[in-house]
Amino acid sequence: MSQETIFSKIINREIPADIQYEDDKALAFTDVNPQAPVHLLIIPKKPIATINDIAEEDRELVGHLFVVAAKIAAQKGFADEGYRVVMNCNDDGGQTVYHLHLHLLAGKAFGWPPYQDRIKRAE
Ligand code: 5GP
Repeated sequence: MSQETIFSKIINREIPADIQYEDDKALAFTDVNPQAPVHLLIIPKKPIATINDIAEEDRELVGHLFVVAAKIAAQKGFADEGYRVVMNCNDDGGQTVYHLHLHLLAGKAFGWPPYQDRIKRAE
């Protein structure tokens, strides 16, 4: 399943974004509502809606998103200090844009486990 999303509009330059990295398969840009001093979104140019929609043929592409994350971390100088990558899936996972994306967060020390979880709806 794939649909036109805000991210496909960013890929097609129909809406602006602060693009930090691009190659033939992926794009990285600053999150419009950053949750850390560095908050980038790394997306495949191929429109895959969620983790559930990743096909066998997408193995290399999804791995590439992590390679891009590590490359950006090295280029921006926070690889050794550390960073977090997150991929949310569907509503309970906190996904709001249905085009696969890796959040790359850095510039602060993150806590674990994640906080501010939404209250799980009653069974
Ligand atoms: P999700 O909640 O799906 O894991 O993450 C979607 C992210 O996309 C959110 O962090 C949100 O701030 C970001 N976002 C939503 N719309 C835009 C936009 O138009 N431009 C940019 N740069 N980021 C966006």
